[in-house]
Amino acid sequence: MYTHHNNALRLQDVGQEVKLKGFVAKKRDLGTLVFIDLRDQEGITQLAFDEQNDLRSITTGIKHEFVLEVRGVVRERSSKNPDLPTGDIEIDVTQLEVLAQAKTPPLLIQDDTDALEETRLTYRYLDLRRPYLQKMFRLRHDITQSVRSFLNGENFMEFETPILTKSTPEGARDYVVPSRLHEGHFYALPQSPQLFKQLLMISGFEKYYQIAKCFRDEDLRSDRQPEFTQIDIEMSFIDQEAVLDLSERMIKHVMKTIKGLTFEEPFPRLPYHEAMRRFGSDKPDTRFGLELVNVNDVFEQTSFSVFKTVLEASGNLEAITVKGGASQLSRKDLDGFGDIAKRYGAKGLAYLKWEDALAGPLAKFVSDEERDALNQVTGFEQGDILLVVADQPSIAYDAMGHIRLALGKKLDLIDETVFDFTWIVDWPMFEYDATEGRHYALHHPFTRVQSQDMARLKDEPTCVLANAYDLVVQGQELGGGSLRIHEPLLQASVFEILGLSEAEQEAKFGFLKDALTYGAPPHGGIAFGLDRLVMLLGGTKNIRDVILFPKTTSAQCLMTEAPSALDEATLKALKLQK
Ligand code: ASP
Repeated sequence: MYTHHNNALRLQDVGQEVKLKGFVAKKRDLGTLVFIDLRDQEGITQLAFDEQNDLRSITTGIKHEFVLEVRGVVRERSSKNPDLPTGDIEIDVTQLEVLAQAKTPPLLIQDDTDALEETRLTYRYLDLRRPYLQKMFRLRHDITQSVRSFLNGENFMEFETPILTKSTPEGARDYVVPSRLHEGHFYALPQSPQLFKQLLMISGFEKYYQIAKCFRDEDLRSDRQPEFTQIDIEMSFIDQEAVLDLSERMIKHVMKTIKGLTFEEPFPRLPYHEAMRRFGSDKPDTRFGLELVNVNDVFEQTSFSVFKTVLEASGNLEAITVKGGASQLSRKDLDGFGDIAKRYGAKGLAYLKWEDALAGPLAKFVSDEERDALNQVTGFEQGDILLVVADQPSIAYDAMGHIRLALGKKLDLIDETVFDFTWIVDWPMFEYDATEGRHYALHHPFTRVQSQDMARLKDEPTCVLANAYDLVVQGQELGGGSLRIHEPLLQASVFEILGLSEAEQEAKFGFLKDALTYGAPPHGGIAFGLDRLVMLLGGTKNIRDVILFPKTTSAQCLMTEAPSALDEATLKALKLQK
């Protein structure tokens, strides 16, 4: 062992004999004097080898990342380093042992490493030595422990559910594992422990949680990983209020223990439809204004054919007025916003400036009455710019919602230190995909329909609201959950609306349907993205900063080279090759 870690010694320890171990972070050979920075998980201590120290000659062969054990005496430094907690002292080394040699590392092991991400991921074990990542994973540990201690205190039990299982639909593709014993059969890795946690409630456990690995084979974006971790929670004999209350207290506990931040007020709640209407998003960034305003009525009599066509097709004209924006936004900015509109499926972005007079491509179509009405509805006045997307409602919201975010960034309206936790509630149960001609569950098929809407379920499924809720912060979904269906008949109706035949229901979810017939308590739960939570509190936008051994955006592990080919014998044993 060692007597101290490398962040422990201070001035009051001067004169002590100590034994330290660690990696060589840096070596400075000043000719007569040699200094080595010894690094371990906790920090750095400076080792000093004076001119008369016999060990000085040995240091010649010592390189970065060698692993050392030293004995020596703590002494006050002549030139102190105020940036280092141990910066007042150094070790006058009396014994030195090289515990391991190291090749020259392919990346600089320091926070501002110059290595490409590809190199860092290939040598992830070295990358993880960087103090930045060491701190990030300490934070991850602290957050996990804070969650555990809160939930344990609330009488929750922590369980593990199977990884080799059957498909759990969360809207993504499954990762599958071939069965050796059952030819042509496959396990699916869980997209979440959803069905197991419901079954645990049916088993009579009332409060469950799990720090659970989830696997989803989806096209990856920079903030997604094929395997990620959820704080998965389920409770029985509860209502929606109880889940929201528990979750809110848990998040507040984490914010307090990790960040020292207190949130006195309850997190605001925003119905889904209101979030879409005001922010064009089901995960609105509420740290700034620039809310969307519907201007359909203003343009009821429009002479602009694009608007007219959209209105005739029951579309939406969604607008944002940027105060003082007429001179603030350049042509290039506007072209950029136009590109965003197109990226999200809209045909384009229309804009109207109010300089001395109306200007911009829309100007010639806007009458004085329409201008006055815009002023009434959106506050549009001289000096402002009005941006409009005209399209079918979902596209208009989505496009304008993204333009709003880009505007917020461009105009520097977003305060990154603000945590705007907001519940999105009253989600629709289904959405209808016109191209596929079928309904999808917005949350998942086990979500409970709100009581007052039960009667409309069969005839007007898209009008039905669900007991589903998401916690959103800084424009990201941090968690989501729902009350669950605990009645077998209701579950069957929902499956039916989703287009599952009875045979399919039986094949896929027979065990759940069966379980529901043996007395299922009302239950519900939620799952939070642990990786997202760490990113939020660690102040990083890169999910690979918070996952120890992450995959690339093409789902590869550069270090282990997974996925990899199997040899013929294994393929044959799995009956994947004859
Ligand atoms: N299983 C859900 C999810 O992964 C969360 C929940 O409904 O509790 O999003």
